Amino acid sequence: MNTLLWLRTDLRTHDNPALAAAASGGTVTALFLVAPGQWRQHGDAPAKVDFWLRNLRELSHELGRLGIPLRLLTVPDWSQAPQALASFCRAHAIDHVHANAEWAVNERRRDEAVAGSLQAMGVDWTLHHGASLLRPGSVLNGKGECYRVYTPYARACRERLRTAPLRAVPAPRAQTPPPWPADPLPDAFEGYAAPSDAVRALWPAGEDAASERLEAFADGVIDAYQQQRDFPSLPATSCLSPYLAAGVLSPGQALRAALAANQGEVDGGKAGASTWINELLWREFYQHLLAAHPALSMHQPMKPETAAVPWRDAPEDLRAWQQGRTGIPIVDAAMRQLLALGWMHNRLRMVTAMFLSKNLLIDWRLGEAWFMAQLVDGDLAANNGGWQWSASTGADAVPYFRIFNPLSQSRKFDPDGVFLREWLPELAHLDDRAIHDPSPMERAAAGYPPAMVDLAQSRLRALEAFGGLPSA
Ligand code: FAD
Repeated sequence: MNTLLWLRTDLRTHDNPALAAAASGGTVTALFLVAPGQWRQHGDAPAKVDFWLRNLRELSHELGRLGIPLRLLTVPDWSQAPQALASFCRAHAIDHVHANAEWAVNERRRDEAVAGSLQAMGVDWTLHHGASLLRPGSVLNGKGECYRVYTPYARACRERLRTAPLRAVPAPRAQTPPPWPADPLPDAFEGYAAPSDAVRALWPAGEDAASERLEAFADGVIDAYQQQRDFPSLPATSCLSPYLAAGVLSPGQALRAALAANQGEVDGGKAGASTWINELLWREFYQHLLAAHPALSMHQPMKPETAAVPWRDAPEDLRAWQQGRTGIPIVDAAMRQLLALGWMHNRLRMVTAMFLSKNLLIDWRLGEAWFMAQLVDGDLAANNGGWQWSASTGADAVPYFRIFNPLSQSRKFDPDGVFLREWLPELAHLDDRAIHDPSPMERAAAGYPPAMVDLAQSRLRALEAFGGLPSA
């Protein structure tokens, strides 16, 4: 029996259901489809594509130790996947293909087409579930539908996790390798320049790097997570999102580490661990919504009435936001962090997203795309969920009238201006009070722009735009 493990956003050997199944009988080959055209269609960030490549290198090594060669096939986009898989299976006499499910629409359509073409040639095809704690579609409300509200959803998840604890999938044993060798990995994928060494150093590749990071977090930092997670100058969050998004780390591994730090309690126990588990469940919530509502993969708001928001067409304002030149220090510092690191602190993702969609009244989809084009952890479900939350267009989103004031957020979560000084060196000399909102003279002297909008007036404009919607 020759089995094929088709790797996608599950770049790991541990706790990987598709790998375990593929390795349970016969000779295994692993395959990754390089699809630069598809990645461009999705607007994936160069830093993320580079992260995939670096992880594939580590993974190829690990798989090699298990006797599993990693092969690469290049296709322009997913439309060519059925043909590519079929030829590969024919050439390598593959009997059974295993993969872990992905839930975005393009990936589901791809998998349906691949399943059809494999079945037509008599090759078995099995999709496993390794990207979320609980299978999307398996946590339903009283009406048998996917929850639209986080709190009851999270309660149902906790109940499931308490009564049926998640077990790690056993690691595969070394195999007799097939007669073909692994493919060499390129230095870069076509059209994707490598990010800076600093970015690469910040996100070291491989399962060992991910486990070390998880261990360091769960062994101590997690205890203060609840009190400190909103302060962007503190190293208080796990910085595991790129590893979870690329599947270098499984959500089950993350959950089990949190449970170990919480005496095995899914609910309650230590505030830090319990709050972190909540965040893992937010990730889960957005994945389940994405799976239940294909429209979310197609640029549609979850609340249909918000399609009528009169978004402003303001390319210059959008550009100022993207480049960190809005004149609102906390927004600019955050946007510069994103440009430099391919990552932004969660509190600031909310602040900058709300500033764009409310104070600038610019379509959240433009912000979503900009984030995706920069983020090393870019993930359609979480990014779309975060944007629709901030723009009040999503399931269980912030009510449209609760608009963050970025200056209050700045004073509250960066009271000493430590984060602002790191990212806005031109303002570093200002005192802790002035740095959040410098005077016109201080701005002029520092070469820092005036605020591009009046916060109070732009807030009113957003309230009017949303308040005027049919059923808002
Ligand atoms: P931690 O605080 O340590 O949390 C642990 C893990 O839980 C994270 O790694 C992540 O996988 C998950 N998580 C935490 N918060 C959320 C959340 N609100 N929604 C979904 N999952 C969450 N996260 C992404 O992984 N990819 C994205 O593309 C993404 N885009 C976002 C866009 C916006 C506008 C907003 C508001 C949030 C977005 N998030 C995204 C969620 C969150 O900001 C990041 O997951 C988090 O900042 C990553 O840092 P961390 O690993 O230190 O998180």
